[in-house]
Amino acid sequence: RKPVPSDIVISRSCAAKSIDSLAREVGLFSDEVELYGKTKAKVQLTIIKRLQSLPDGKYVVVTGITPTPLGEGKSTTTIGLAQAMGAHMKLNVFACVRQPSQGPTFGIKGGAAGGGYSQVIPMEEFNLHLTGDIHAITAANNLVAAAVDARIFHEATQSDKALYNRLVPLSGGERTFSPIQINRLKKLGIQKTEPSALTEEEINRFARLDIDPSSVTWQRVLDTNDRFLRKITIGQSPTEKGYTREAQFDITVASEIMAVLALTSSLEDMRQRLAKMVVATSRRGDPITTEDLGVSGALTVLMKDAIKPNLMQTLEGTPVFVHAGPFANIAHGNSSILADKIALKLVGPEGFVVTEAGFGADIGMEKFFNIKCRYSGLRPHVVVLVATIRALKMHGGGPTVSFLLNFNLLEKGCNNMRKQIENAKHFGVPVVVAVNAFKTDTEAELDLVCTLAKSAGAFDAVRCSHWAEGGAGAVALGEAVQKASSAPSNFKFLYDLDLPIADKIRIIAQKIYGADDIELLPEAQHKVALYTKQGFANLPVCMAKTHLSLSHEAEKKGVPKGFILPIRDIRASVGAGFLFPLVGTMPTIPGLPTRPCFYDIDLDPETEQVNGLF
Ligand code: ADP
Repeated sequence: RKPVPSDIVISRSCAAKSIDSLAREVGLFSDEVELYGKTKAKVQLTIIKRLQSLPDGKYVVVTGITPTPLGEGKSTTTIGLAQAMGAHMKLNVFACVRQPSQGPTFGIKGGAAGGGYSQVIPMEEFNLHLTGDIHAITAANNLVAAAVDARIFHEATQSDKALYNRLVPLSGGERTFSPIQINRLKKLGIQKTEPSALTEEEINRFARLDIDPSSVTWQRVLDTNDRFLRKITIGQSPTEKGYTREAQFDITVASEIMAVLALTSSLEDMRQRLAKMVVATSRRGDPITTEDLGVSGALTVLMKDAIKPNLMQTLEGTPVFVHAGPFANIAHGNSSILADKIALKLVGPEGFVVTEAGFGADIGMEKFFNIKCRYSGLRPHVVVLVATIRALKMHGGGPTVSFLLNFNLLEKGCNNMRKQIENAKHFGVPVVVAVNAFKTDTEAELDLVCTLAKSAGAFDAVRCSHWAEGGAGAVALGEAVQKASSAPSNFKFLYDLDLPIADKIRIIAQKIYGADDIELLPEAQHKVALYTKQGFANLPVCMAKTHLSLSHEAEKKGVPKGFILPIRDIRASVGAGFLFPLVGTMPTIPGLPTRPCFYDIDLDPETEQVNGLF
């Protein structure tokens, strides 16, 4: 067989359909589609209303075993399965995937458009700016950051009265509150709308947020792997009069606003979530929100186009929504609810939506169910669990990548797959194992994994070769998924929201990771008390744990036993709607290696083609 060319060569060799004809093909009206050139379009949310009475299609989530650092092919399988079901089985299908960060594109990881003959095209559009959603998040996030520090500065340098007079300026001899300020008054329990009616005490309470600078949790963001921004000091110009503080940058996809985009269900809901984001605590111990800063309306304006899902296509002309890309550790790592919802209507009751959850089943899938499905109300029909021979051998005790034939290692490593199948079954959804075949795998190895997967309780297990062969290589997977989608499914959440915070964490740690127990370290205990007092205890839990092990220690492979999961700290993304316990230290802005991917990237000025992108 001919060697498989590089991703960009394959992507470029394919004649893409014009996106407006694809939009028509999937049932979108022209006034619902906003074209961004010939290969990308945004879909207006008005379509939700138009299609609301129609039944949904079948909902399939793609997850994986605990991966090697190289990734085991979840994105590739999501796209390959959609190509198989759409182009070969002639079913209505949509793939829904995350938009990748530009940081890793120029850094170390490579793209996220799938790979080989299972890709979203054009892959350079997908991996670079797309339609600017991430830039909008950067703008919105940094407006909040600027608002926080400017407010601290102004409060530190002005009296209550002076602050109030500037916040509620005289206009034509009168002062009036803006709608956002009336919201703040309501929150303070001041039922007045006339500035002249406020007492001295109320004026003071209204004007001064009294942010404790050491409590600021809101960080600046940038979509670049700039490691020197991991810790910075801000306010060093003399104009800031010595109001310096230590701060940090995160990568844009780690912004809470990205998680809000992924979890929102409408413009109105996004407005509310963007208003509820907690940026700091006041010296009195109250949470300070974006609404308190007066910035939530402006954030909604900046995000008004980002909220519309982006339509693209696979190499085989089947439709894809690319929308939102939250981090999978400090956030939930799933593409948007809105894209899934629209796609489920567009495919109709016999059609399929294939959506991907980041990292392995212990992280991305658990969060898909307990966070994303809880907010969306959608119920999945099938879990596809991607496994590779190389990762299973690693779990059996082999090196990260080994192509040596060793059935002992492979069989032992299949325990990780067994545990991840069990994890999916905790939620009552049938599991189909997709063994993503590499050219070095043997028939006997692939057969062994399929047999062990079925004996571990998978509904079915099939090998697939969509990376090398496109959709044709995943037809057996597509058929298995179609069969599983009519099998009895009894979806349930793993925990109730009204349980205490520590109990929710313990349930995930014991049932999904196999921990004996959890240990809340002092900072985490303090946060449990704080968030319970502030009224955030009933949020779902989004574990920030390494994806490279079922435990908290990346080097422990297979199915680690006999460990206590340490919870170092807990943070809150109140607008997005979850608490995130930190199991280890999570890098929130990657660095560049000595030889980053950008060395290979260039533009051909004649053809305007991008070269060297993976
Ligand atoms: P994940 O989504 O699980 O992180 P990806 O689908 O992004 O994994 O795949 C990781 C990398 O491995 C990509 O570069 C992809 O092209 C490559 N890859 C995936 N499947 C295969 C395969 N069967 N053979 C060779 N390379 C593969």
